[in-house]
Amino acid sequence: MLIAGIDIGNCTTEVALAIVERTSEPRFLASAITGTTGIKGTVDNVPGVMECLSMAMAGTGKGISDLELILLNDATPVIGDVAMETISETIITESTMIGHNPATPGGIGLGVGKTLLLGRLDEAYAGEQVIVVVPGHIDFSQASDQINSAFQRGVAIQAAIVQKDEAVLIANRIQRTIPIVDEVSLVDRVPLGMLAAVEVADPGRSISTLSNPYGIATVFGLTPEETKNIAPIARALIGNRSAVVIKTPSGDVRERRIPAGSLMLIGERATLEIDLQAGAQAILQAIERTGRLRDAKGEPGTNVGGMLERVRSMMSNLTDQPMEAIRIQDLLPVDTLVQQAVVGGLAGELSSENAVALAAMVASSRLSMGRIADRLAKETGAQVQVGGVEAHMALHGALTTPGADLPLAILDLGAGSTDAALAGKDGQINVIHLAGAGDMVNLIIDAELALDDRNLAEEIKRFPVGRVDNLFLLRGEDGTVRFFEEPLDPKLFARTVVIKEEGLAALPGNLSIEKVRTVRRKAKDRVFVTNTFRALNAVAPAGNLRLLSNVVLVGGCALDFEIPGMISDALAEYGVVVGTANVRSSEGPRNAVATGLVLSYADSTPLGSSPSVLPRPLAGEGQR
Ligand code: ADP
Ligand code: MG
Repeated sequence: MLIAGIDIGNCTTEVALAIVERTSEPRFLASAITGTTGIKGTVDNVPGVMECLSMAMAGTGKGISDLELILLNDATPVIGDVAMETISETIITESTMIGHNPATPGGIGLGVGKTLLLGRLDEAYAGEQVIVVVPGHIDFSQASDQINSAFQRGVAIQAAIVQKDEAVLIANRIQRTIPIVDEVSLVDRVPLGMLAAVEVADPGRSISTLSNPYGIATVFGLTPEETKNIAPIARALIGNRSAVVIKTPSGDVRERRIPAGSLMLIGERATLEIDLQAGAQAILQAIERTGRLRDAKGEPGTNVGGMLERVRSMMSNLTDQPMEAIRIQDLLPVDTLVQQAVVGGLAGELSSENAVALAAMVASSRLSMGRIADRLAKETGAQVQVGGVEAHMALHGALTTPGADLPLAILDLGAGSTDAALAGKDGQINVIHLAGAGDMVNLIIDAELALDDRNLAEEIKRFPVGRVDNLFLLRGEDGTVRFFEEPLDPKLFARTVVIKEEGLAALPGNLSIEKVRTVRRKAKDRVFVTNTFRALNAVAPAGNLRLLSNVVLVGGCALDFEIPGMISDALAEYGVVVGTANVRSSEGPRNAVATGLVLSYADSTPLGSSPSVLPRPLAGEGQR
C-alpha cells in the first residue's frame, strides 16, 4: 500500500512516501520538502501539500492516483511571532554632536577650535584656533581659496565642517592637512563661536579620541560630572571614521529611557507583573516563576501593550478567531541593541539604543486539520487520516538516526518555535513548545545590523561572511583566504559579503566582518541556547539535564552551520550525547515527523487488522 506521511510546519511542508505491507517493514520510496503555503493549520496549506506530494512522486514511477493513504500530523497548535520595541533613545537638546560617518571625509587627525563660518574667516586673528564651517552654497574651490588665504594670514584653522560631499576636494586644495567632515546636512544648525573638536581617522580605522569619554574630557577640559554626561556621545561615536563634537554651554545629550510599560504574566502557579525595562534575564526568570503561561498581557497604552496587541490581532486575523480567544503560551525576551537616529541630530547620526525583542507563541484552538484532510481527500482520491501528536511523531522519526536510543530527547528547531520532547525507557513522553526560533534570529540580525531586509537577514543567518580584499581574493571570517582565477564582480570590491553556496552577495553600508559575525552568533546564542536550556529543563526527569542521555536535533535550524555546535558546547558539561539527527540514515535533521507518521502507522498495523485504525501514539501520553 502506497502511503504518504505529511508534516505541515510553520515554514516547510515535508513528505515521506513509503510502501507499507503488513508482512514487512515499511519501504521508503522518496522524501520531499517545500515551503508551506498559507498559515499552518489552514486549508491554504493544501496547494503546498499537493506540490510536495508531486515532488516526492517524481521519479518513483507512481502517481498521486496510486496513493492510498495520507497521514497528517496533528499539527502542534502553536504559531510564533516576533516583535521588537526600543526602550532607550538618545536626545540632543542643543546640537552638540555630529557623529555621522560620511563615506569620504577629508584629511586626517584631530582638530580643536572655535566654530566660525567660512564667510567670517577674515575676522579671525593670526594664531586663533578655529574650525571653519562651510555651508552648501559655497563650492569647494571658493572654500579652499578662502581657507588658504586665512592660512597665509596665520590663522590656525584646525578643521572644517562641510555641508556638501566635498571634503576630499577641499583637502586636496588646501596647504595643510586638517580633518574635514562633510555631508553635514543641517550645517546651519551647527552652533557658532563654540569650542568644537573634529576627528578623522586613517582609512579603514576608526576614531579614537572622540569615541572615548576621557578623550572628549581631555579635549574640552571637562569635570568628572560633565564627563559622565557626555559618555553617551562617546558611545554613539564608537566605530566611526569621523566625528564632530561641539561643546555648547547648555548643550546636552541625554539618554532617555522610554517608558515601555509592563508585562502581565498569567501563569499556572502565579500571576506576575514585570517592567520591560527590567531586561530579558529578569523577564525570563519571571516567566519561570509563573509556571506554564496561560496568557500574557501588556500594559495598555504602552509600547509593550501595543506590541502584544499587534501579535494578538495578527494571530486573530490569520486563524480566524476573535482577539479574546488568542492566548499567549510562551514568550522569549531578548535584549538587543538597535541603530536608531539620534533625536535632534544634525547629520542623521545613529546611536545604539536598547531594545527588547519578544517572540510570542500563541495557541490556536481551532486548527482546521479536519478541513485540510477533507480537501486533500477530494484532491487526491486517497484516504486521509489525521493523527499522531507532532512531537511523538518527531521522536519516532528521530529514533531512526543511527546510534540514537531511548531514553531520547529531541529538540525541534523550527522557524517559529523550539519544541522538545523526551521519550523515557518506560514510554513516558514529555513535550514542551517554546516561543523563539529561526524567525527571531532573523529579526535580531535585521534590527542590530539595521538592514531592514528580512531576506538578507536570513542569508546572514545561514552563511558565513568574508571580505573581498581585492578582486582575486576573498578573506573568510575565520581568516582563511580563497583565491580566484577570474576577477570577481567589481561591485564586491572592499565589501563585506555573504558567502552563499551560489555565490557572493555584498552587504550594504560598511559593516565589518567582525560586527556581522558577532551579531549573528549572539542572536543564535540568545535564542537557541537559551531555549535549549528552557526546553530541556522542562522535559528532563526532575529538570536534571544530567539524566538525559541522548539529545537529537531536528528541524530546519539543525541544518545551520553553527547552531548545533553552540548547543553541543553549551551541554558539554552535562555529559549528554548531542548531535544532529540523521533520519532514516539519509535525511539529516529533516523529515522526522513525516517519517514518524509512516512508522507509527506501520507499527500499529499488525497482521490482519484493518488499515484504517488510527496510528497508535507511542505509549504513555504525558503531555506537559
Ligand atoms: P517548521 O517546522 O516550523 O516549518 P523548519 O523545521 O522547516 O520549520 O525550520 C525552518 C527554519 O530553519 C527557518 O528559520 C530556516 O531559516 C531554517 N533553515 C532551513 N534550512 C536551513 C539551512 N540549510 N541552514 C540553516 N538554517 C536553515
Ligand atoms: Mg517542524
